Amino acid sequence: MNDAADRLPRVAYFSMEIALDPAVPTYSGGLGVLAGDMLQSAADLAVALIGVTLVSRQGYFRQEIAGGMQVERPEPWEPARFAEPVAAKVPLDMGGRRVWVGAWRYLVTSRSDGAPPVPVLLLDTDLPENAPEDRRLTDFLYGGDERYRLRQEMVLGIAGVRMLAALGVQVTRYHLNEGHAALLALELLRMRCAAAQSPAAPEALAAVRRQCVFTTHTPVPAGHDQFAYPLALAELGSMVQEPLLRTLAGDERLNMTRLALSLSGWVNGVAQRHAETASGMFPGYTVHAIGNGVHPWTWASDAHRLLYARHVPHWCHEPERLMMANRIALPEIAAAHAAAKRLLLERAAEFPGGAALRPERCTLGFARRMTAYKRPELLFADLERLRRIAGRYPLQVLLAGKAHPHDLEGKREIERLLGFAQQLGAELPVVFLPGYGLELARLMVAGVDVWLNTPQRPLEASGTSGMKAALNGVPSLSVLDGWWIEGCAEGVTGWAVGGQGPEDSGADALSLYSKLEEQVLPLFYQRPAQWTELTRSTIAHNGSFFNSHRMVRRYVLEAYAR
Ligand SMILES: *Cc1c(COP(=O)(O)O)cnc(C)c1O
Repeated sequence: MNDAADRLPRVAYFSMEIALDPAVPTYSGGLGVLAGDMLQSAADLAVALIGVTLVSRQGYFRQEIAGGMQVERPEPWEPARFAEPVAAKVPLDMGGRRVWVGAWRYLVTSRSDGAPPVPVLLLDTDLPENAPEDRRLTDFLYGGDERYRLRQEMVLGIAGVRMLAALGVQVTRYHLNEGHAALLALELLRMRCAAAQSPAAPEALAAVRRQCVFTTHTPVPAGHDQFAYPLALAELGSMVQEPLLRTLAGDERLNMTRLALSLSGWVNGVAQRHAETASGMFPGYTVHAIGNGVHPWTWASDAHRLLYARHVPHWCHEPERLMMANRIALPEIAAAHAAAKRLLLERAAEFPGGAALRPERCTLGFARRMTAYKRPELLFADLERLRRIAGRYPLQVLLAGKAHPHDLEGKREIERLLGFAQQLGAELPVVFLPGYGLELARLMVAGVDVWLNTPQRPLEASGTSGMKAALNGVPSLSVLDGWWIEGCAEGVTGWAVGGQGPEDSGADALSLYSKLEEQVLPLFYQRPAQWTELTRSTIAHNGSFFNSHRMVRRYVLEAYAR
């Protein structure tokens, strides 16, 4: 880091995945997309942040659909085409071996005149001085076994802190975006204890806590990384004393969420309900609720960018101004949506079944990580009922989403969805679009008519795709969980599926069908002007609020400046 702007004191934002560009596959899904939106908003608002992540040279994976199932391919990319190598490299001992870690510097450019870019360090072990096995450590995002995963977290957390120091970056706060980054706090503690020549004095712990902010992203226990102590202690070596580690990270297994909680002075959940759920899971901690948001310019379709530029000056810098969307004439709102829908259907036509889709038909969109608790099959719970609805009101469905290669249940969900598509045939066209990522997401959230989300309550921490849809005037039909508890105004921004009581998939499916048949579809087909009014109020209410500018401003004022 060599010019004056690079010597600014900065908040270091650590995330195992960050979505930087559609051609840079250093992300798997929502967590990485949120991190990318956060950095883009920081750049737009001239907040001095620096991102730290892994280079993930082989990406997460490229999804193909073949033989009725998901097939995973590597997604290699060339860092030198997008980023500059930094001059420093730092040592990291793991399992008694020394590994050298280098980095690339990627710049997130600002959309505001004159504001400096936000740099991102992409940590890379593919250096000639490393053993062949170690050179592959930063290849596959979330790949490999438990040991590979732990080593990746050591690269992110420990080597990440060392790299910032080697580059002379003055770090004011460390932000742990999910537990994967927890080892950074352990490294800060090690440094303080080494400097004071004492094992973890209370002052050292307090000082680390002042430096660290932790955002937890899921109430699903399997989403919290845990490692067996024999493995963890063998890999971490003498970095930390075992009794202390067990006190900080849990006695039975090294739990990265526990470790992050123990060493962070400020903890955040990603929506109001999630913060409440997390408070219950972690008694004794205050969990704040800075809700997630999405980057306005990134997620608005081309047509919506033009529309807002015409009617809502400065919307890119101050997306709150979209609350005045009600000034925009309805035909212009409808025309922007029609343009976005056309682009999406053109893309869909490239895939099996996609040519059967019609622009005049009401189109439901569902795209998320394919895993059991997201319940992608809820819409298909009763095919007879669904057929009857589609018989009264023409309907078509677009689906997308990847399942983690080790999530066999998630992969089976995809197979069953493809099976439903076959069974429904021409009566109700259902098309699965492979390769859900930034580019496809941007087409889908703007181009469908209704955004569907049917997770099992209360397991959806936030969800952000519905916010992207709202920014493009696409209402949600969604289970009341995560952000939608805050964003749902019935008949104004969309519709709620089910209630807020105990989980009941049967009742949720019935509610979904009756909302579709009695409210959504009649409005869409019989009262088109009122439909467009609803899409416009979706922009005014939710497009204006659930943005990452608000999220960054709140983190700056409430978490970083504390
Ligand atoms: C926004 C986004 C997500 C997360 O959306 P959810 O609503 O949390 O499912 C996942 N993947 C991609 C590619 C996205 O753009």
